[in-house]
Amino acid sequence: MATLLDGRTLAATIEGHLAEVIRAGLARAGRPPGLAVLRVGDDPASGVYVANKEKACLRVGLRSLGCQLPATTSAAEIQATIERLNTDAEVDGILLQLPLPAGLEEGPLLAAIDPDKDADGLHTLNLGRLLKGEEGPRSCTPAGVMALLSAAGVELAGKRAVVVGRSILVGQPMALMLQAADATVSVAHSRTRNLADLTRQADVLVVAAGRPRLIGAEHIRPGAVVVDVGIHRLEPDPADGPGARGRLCGDVRFEEVEPIAAALSPVPGGVGPMTVTMLLVNAVTAWCHRHGLPAPNPADLRG
Ligand code: NAD
Repeated sequence: MATLLDGRTLAATIEGHLAEVIRAGLARAGRPPGLAVLRVGDDPASGVYVANKEKACLRVGLRSLGCQLPATTSAAEIQATIERLNTDAEVDGILLQLPLPAGLEEGPLLAAIDPDKDADGLHTLNLGRLLKGEEGPRSCTPAGVMALLSAAGVELAGKRAVVVGRSILVGQPMALMLQAADATVSVAHSRTRNLADLTRQADVLVVAAGRPRLIGAEHIRPGAVVVDVGIHRLEPDPADGPGARGRLCGDVRFEEVEPIAAALSPVPGGVGPMTVTMLLVNAVTAWCHRHGLPAPNPADLRG
């Protein structure tokens, strides 16, 4: 039976540490860290994510500087807002909530964010810093996975790791982080043949394919550590009655993999809470750098 990689508990531990860092630095900095979440339009799923991020800011002691623009806002106006936030001395982290309304290109807008205020760690410069092993804000979801693995005492050096998915948001930075931790990494994607032959070689398997319940028992080497990044809401079960919401599930068939894996992250409650926490880590770290304060200790960020 697999050990559960419990993201909720670890996220709460890290949040407690961040709250301490803020308390200790507040007098010197003269203000709390500020995170600006820029939302364009009213995509309902984004509304939930933004609300979760705002609640997390409140819990930890960051100022959440929400910024909501109508869906009709032009790219030039969004760019001007980003430039204002770049120069705002109260703002340490900026997050452009994706997806943007149809017709708006995200690339140039993400590139307009000051790389040192890039709370999501997705700016080209910060992906380059990750590639070169230089310091900088790291992409939140893969950084959250690394923290989960580290907190569970999973040794990566010399291990065989497989990442399913090669997106810029998750798969690619995940592979780089695992490689930087001395794992031997393979990346699978939608054109990979014989996926199960590859994933069965993995000591550590990270799944970010965005395909509900893609990975089952046939993909797992017994004793592997499995991290499920996927998150999907299934159709409601008619047996649950009218108005019931569908269950959440991941890319992994939990009930099949749980008996054979050494460790497994649940959905919900695994990677999701860690992503939000890593956003706060990036904003608090930027605040510390700006005010000459000691940045959060990486050891404390592993629970
Ligand atoms: P994406 O659609 O951008 O990328 C999916 C990747 O998986 C692609 O590289 C594709 O080639 C690969 N893929 C698709 N089908 C495959 C298959 N059958 N076999 C092998 N590879 C396959 O998605 P993304 O943005 O990387 O997100 C992946 C999943 O993670 C989604 O479910 C998303 O909702 C979830 N996610 C969760 C969090 C979180 O905080 N929990 C954060 C980000 C993304």
